[in-house]
Amino acid sequence: MSMLEIENLDARYGDFQALFGISLNVRRGETIALVGANGAGKTTLLRAIAGLGQYHAGVLRLNGRDIGSASPQELARMGISMVPEGRRLFTGMSVAENLMIGADLGRGGHWVRDAVFDLFPEIAVMAHRPAGLLSGGQQQMVSLGRALMTNPDLLLVDEVSLGLAPVVVDRVYAALAQLKERKTTLVVVEQDIRRALDVSDRFYCMLSGRVALAGASAPAAFDAVSRAYFGEA
Ligand code: ATP
Repeated sequence: MSMLEIENLDARYGDFQALFGISLNVRRGETIALVGANGAGKTTLLRAIAGLGQYHAGVLRLNGRDIGSASPQELARMGISMVPEGRRLFTGMSVAENLMIGADLGRGGHWVRDAVFDLFPEIAVMAHRPAGLLSGGQQQMVSLGRALMTNPDLLLVDEVSLGLAPVVVDRVYAALAQLKERKTTLVVVEQDIRRALDVSDRFYCMLSGRVALAGASAPAAFDAVSRAYFGEA
């Protein structure tokens, strides 16, 4: 059985329809890459899964249970957590306080503060510093750590690379690889097709609110994904 099943999902912002009949499934322990050009609907899809969506039609199931009308808080307790694009930290609060927000939203488990600091020693030494004073990469680590503190089964990660130096992106992806080894199920939005294929087991390529192509994330898929990305499939 799939952990997450989506059938025929539509989403709109007022009169503007952003998603058209999206169907996808995610099995436990898999890493799924969502790729697609700006505006393809990747963030809208992640937000719908996390219960942050606007109006949507269609079916969303987590472990066989309908979650279409669950609130973000209920979903966090059921094991879905999201690392939002732009990190969205409380910049005036300390690193430790930002992490505690995740703990308060979620449920108990492996991911307590010290486990996050083991994963990201870079931010351990900054526990009491306001999050707004950290570098972009360090803030991304805090954002990931906050999501982990909910102890998710399914972690949704929106464009962690945005605005970060390549060496920092490598560091963050190394942490995601560790999460994968721990059998955390991941859905990762990534602009860089090569990196997306490299990190994932399967991919979905979106175009104008639809799934244009889906398949196994072999390096050989690169050309087909590139064409689908630009609507040339
Ligand atoms: P990006 O890489 O730019 O984040 P994306 O693939 O994540 O792109 P979405 O952010 O999901 O795409 O946007 C899908 C479509 O919905 C776009 O056309 C966008 O302009 C539109 N959209 C997104 N958010 C809103 C909103 N709050 N109100 C109206 N339209 C929106």
